[in-house]
Amino acid sequence: MPRPERRIKKREKKEMRFDVLTIFPDMFSPYLRHGVLGKAIEKGIVKVNVINIRDFATGKHKNTDDRPYGGGEGMVMKPEPIYRALKSIERKEKSLVILLSPQGERFDQDMAWELSSYDQLILICGRYEGIDERIRILCAKKEISIGDYILSGGEPAALVIIDAVSRLIPGVLGGEMSNIEESFNNGLLEYPQYTRPRVFEGLEVPEVLLSGNHEEIRKWRRREAIKRTLERRPDLLEKANLNEEERKFLEELRKR
Ligand code: SAM
Repeated sequence: MPRPERRIKKREKKEMRFDVLTIFPDMFSPYLRHGVLGKAIEKGIVKVNVINIRDFATGKHKNTDDRPYGGGEGMVMKPEPIYRALKSIERKEKSLVILLSPQGERFDQDMAWELSSYDQLILICGRYEGIDERIRILCAKKEISIGDYILSGGEPAALVIIDAVSRLIPGVLGGEMSNIEESFNNGLLEYPQYTRPRVFEGLEVPEVLLSGNHEEIRKWRRREAIKRTLERRPDLLEKANLNEEERKFLEELRKR
């Protein structure tokens, strides 16, 4: 993956579409109405189409799950309704079917960048003990986990991916550069942020941030970001793009 600075220069305006397959479609709209994501959807830069898997189930009870072959606890999501729901989706040229699963590849900012290059992401949310294996084999091109823990369903994971990927679509955030500044995008965690009041519970805003000297502020922020990353996520520093002065600063910090 190229560094974010390069990725941003090359980016063209486009529309990103997410199709989400779920048995709980109502979970999505409260989250999608708010903040930058809500605005992006309003502007039409991001489209989220939530599909109720139950609409593709047959029979009197419209069952979407059944008992597992071989016995055992819980229920498994049936393949046919999901398969039919997938077939109903109009596919864009660059589209990817993703299965949300704790067994998948771990989601991170680099993967968010990679996914943002698609025009359409189709996200399948599991429930119960998971989804019949044949959906993974036949339909899923990628399996993604949002972390090493078990959720009750793929819906929160789908929202995490929609949110993180949408932020990288041109026009979603105000300034294109906001993405570069944020934690992970340049191999560093972000510097500490302050707003008014100037003194809060006896703690003052660092003097340099009030100086109006943009170059000094930039340097202070870079140094704070390096310090913070060394303290909390030294593993990220391997990828960090540091200049000579910053590398020396890091060496001094390491010696302390
Ligand atoms: N029995 C499955 C296992 O042990 O791998 C876990 C099933 S989980 C209770 C139900 C659904 O939640 C999964 O099919 C998946 O869609 C979703 N899910 C759970 N944890 C997740 C995670 N860490 N990342 C992404 N999706 C997850």
